[in-house]
Amino acid sequence: MSEYEDPNRDRLKNHFAQRVIHQARQVLEVWQRLQASEWNAGDMSELVEANTRLLRYAERFEQEEHAQLARRIATSLESVEANRGRLNSPLISEIHQLMQRLSRTGLRHGDLAESFLPPLRKPVYLGLQDQERSERLAQQLEFFGLAAQALHSAAEFRAAMSERHPAAIVMEVDFGGRAAGLALAEESQQGLEQKIPVLFFSHDETDAPTRLAAVRAGGQEFFTGAIDASSLLEKIEILTRTAHYEPYRVLVVDDSRAQATHTERVLNSAGIVTRTLTEPIKAMAELAEFQPDLIILDMYMPDCTGTELAKVIRQHERYVSVPIIYLSAEDDLDKQLDAMSEGGDDFLTKPIKPRHLIATVRTRATRARSLKARMVRDSLTGLYNHTHTLQLLEDARARARRDGKPLTFAMLDIDHFKKVNDTYGHPMGDRVIKSLALFLKQRLRKTDHIGRYGGEEFAVVLPDTNAEAAFKVLDDIRQRFAEIRYPAQPQDLSCTFSCGIAELSPDMEIKRLSSQADQALYIAKNGGRNRAAVFQE
Ligand code: GH3
Ligand code: MG
Ligand code: MG
Repeated sequence: MSEYEDPNRDRLKNHFAQRVIHQARQVLEVWQRLQASEWNAGDMSELVEANTRLLRYAERFEQEEHAQLARRIATSLESVEANRGRLNSPLISEIHQLMQRLSRTGLRHGDLAESFLPPLRKPVYLGLQDQERSERLAQQLEFFGLAAQALHSAAEFRAAMSERHPAAIVMEVDFGGRAAGLALAEESQQGLEQKIPVLFFSHDETDAPTRLAAVRAGGQEFFTGAIDASSLLEKIEILTRTAHYEPYRVLVVDDSRAQATHTERVLNSAGIVTRTLTEPIKAMAELAEFQPDLIILDMYMPDCTGTELAKVIRQHERYVSVPIIYLSAEDDLDKQLDAMSEGGDDFLTKPIKPRHLIATVRTRATRARSLKARMVRDSLTGLYNHTHTLQLLEDARARARRDGKPLTFAMLDIDHFKKVNDTYGHPMGDRVIKSLALFLKQRLRKTDHIGRYGGEEFAVVLPDTNAEAAFKVLDDIRQRFAEIRYPAQPQDLSCTFSCGIAELSPDMEIKRLSSQADQALYIAKNGGRNRAAVFQE
């Protein structure tokens, strides 16, 4: 028997692979922390350390993909050091890319035979008055892959906090007594360098003073009414994961190379990726390509002024909400106000303190991102809406073509959904839709785009994936989704979906691609539902 056929060896290998994955998550956690800070030397050296350990484990337990990534991350981090700690856009992007690949290896399902992955990250602490409900909620969260711990008293909560910091806290306003939850949450944040996201909950609609107190106690969200696992998870996802993953991208338009370089240096030092244009006329092309979170404009340039350029940018619907900040020596307040009325969002006067510039850019970019998220997402599921999904598909097509990589598009439709509504009521139907959305989010890669295409229809964009691989992943999701039981009367409910898959071929328009996915879906439905089908000519 060759060593590759030894089932024991395989099992052992799986077991150790989890350790490697665990360490990869450690690396990602430190990395995530860096995103919110000023990238100081201490955090950087912690990152180097965590990565060194990852490399050691990966080599020891023969996880080649992880070892390769850890090696490349080490090289990039060495370049930062060799650069005397100075960062630049290519370096930032490179590290980000490697981290993203690392997070994908850690999250990809099916890599490790049948073994389950260890909990995704730190747990969520639940402080709810109704203990039974709290336990149930914890269970539901676990089901979707999020570790949650129901704590039953203030003392238990404090003990848990002193042992380990959670990824987020869900706290009922009156946990442990009238308004005591507010105080408890506030107390638990004291002295922490890195604030923990807090989501407050109250049975009844509360008054403005309570809401204000919740904000002061560090509350980032406030729930009232019934708390359900899906929407809670969605909020937690946003607060803990996606928020800082992508580096901010800033386009600097300035005819003076020296000034632009200075601005870039300042922003790069805080981990912000930049690109500079000295010819404003090229801005539109650059915008489409670079997709910045924010634009910094010089006021006076020879070919076209900053305000003129701002007007042109604002004429494009896609860029109406991208913040524009003027950076100029102009200190005439009237002229500044004029410029602001022409589509600018802020006016910074040169010379500006680096910290001030970084803070302004971060705040504006953060808000712009959350605003955009609201515009492009479906409110029930938090997935991308129809229009934006197609936009993402178009972007993905351009990228796939440029990089010579495959791209697959899939459409999902819940089977006999009308019956769910008719038998169990519309709210139950909504719950099924939400849970499928969540299920897809948990099981697909972060680089995949998931959209709610219509009522009970979903669409998935899978970059760098061919039809065969997409089929494997989606068919596995299909099988597992069918196993979910929703507690209901007169009997528990389970649902299935059908799925149509199509791969991009050269020179194909996305219209054709989506119509092929649609045809494949039709075939899956006709073939008896609860199945996935790949489009074939
Ligand atoms: P098939 O297997 O052929 O897909 O059958 P189906 O019943 O799922 O398909 P059909 O398209 O006939 O019905 C879809 C139903 O989904 C009709 C609509 O009332 C319901 N629906 C659409 N959007 C929502 C929603 O947001 N919430 C709920 N609860 N139901 C929705
Ligand atoms: Mg349907
Ligand atoms: Mg339908």
